[in-house]
Amino acid sequence: MDLKALIREIPDFPRPGVSFKDITTLMKDRAALAYVVRSLADHFRGAGIQTVVGVESRGYVLGAPLAYELGTGFVLIRKPGKLPAATIRVEYDLEYGKDALEIHRDALQRGERVLLVDDLLATGGTMSAAARLVRELEAETVGFGFLIELTFLGGRERLKSMGFSDSQIVT
Ligand code: 5GP
Repeated sequence: MDLKALIREIPDFPRPGVSFKDITTLMKDRAALAYVVRSLADHFRGAGIQTVVGVESRGYVLGAPLAYELGTGFVLIRKPGKLPAATIRVEYDLEYGKDALEIHRDALQRGERVLLVDDLLATGGTMSAAARLVRELEAETVGFGFLIELTFLGGRERLKSMGFSDSQIVT
């Protein structure tokens, strides 16, 4: 299936010089959505995933159906101040400034086998922050699932430097 043809490129969004990959056009296509979710599920079936963890907000669009397909529960990683119960937080650097992510303290058990999901891997800053949250709760990140990888930004190498291997990263 030609997924690339379904992803819309928006020049100069959210700022001049950035070409944004708009996945809303792909998500709207029922065959493409089913294909993406099934491909990720097929890759990770048999990996003993116990929980899918999605990163706000496009990670939820892929992550929740993937959890359903794998027969697991789903956990949310959110931007600060959005989760209602007690949380832990990690900060990470952006091109300009800092951002942070949070997860409920009781969302994962020690040793729980987790699949982390987001729509797009760029520098890997967001996903390595998410993996730090999982690690802080003493759960185990078994793999990462993405729809798109911007290879020239080195995210895969960044995740590898945290001890995660190529074969765990599926785009
Ligand atoms: P990173 O932290 O790897 O540099 O950037 C990845 C994060 O930024 C993801 O959460 C992703 O949703 C968002 N992101 C960055 N650029 C794009 C883009 O062009 N399209 C989409 N859909 N998301 C992007």
